[in-house]
Amino acid sequence: MDKNGPPPTYSSAQSGWTQPQQPPPGWTPAQNYQPAQTYQPSGPAPAVIITAQPTHVHYNAPVGPVSSRVICPSCRADVHTKLQHEPTTQTHLMALCLFCFLCWPCVCLPYCMDSCQNANHYCPNCNAFIGTYQS
Ligand SMILES: [Zn+2]
Repeated sequence: MDKNGPPPTYSSAQSGWTQPQQPPPGWTPAQNYQPAQTYQPSGPAPAVIITAQPTHVHYNAPVGPVSSRVICPSCRADVHTKLQHEPTTQTHLMALCLFCFLCWPCVCLPYCMDSCQNANHYCPNCNAFIGTYQS
């Protein structure tokens, strides 16, 4: 009354095994191959845990024309940036235009207007450059 028929699951497991090598007689392939199948690597082992910098901290951070609150990439302090305005090519061009139109007293205006210059943001703690706001 006991069923001793061959289980059909073995043949399906063997079909996935693409080695053309014939197993020697007396070797039970399905039984011996089963532990090897449990050793299926579940993807690359996550041995290296990447402790990258937080993504919101990077150089040339998105900063505005006014002092912004950022985390300094250098000293990791939560700071309000120190602003330094720097004349850009646009500033010089504007001054040149004013000079050409004989508005000489106005030539210095672009250099006095913060909106005509780049705003460089620096960390007040360690003086690290954080970002530039280009007007
Ligand atoms: Zn800093």
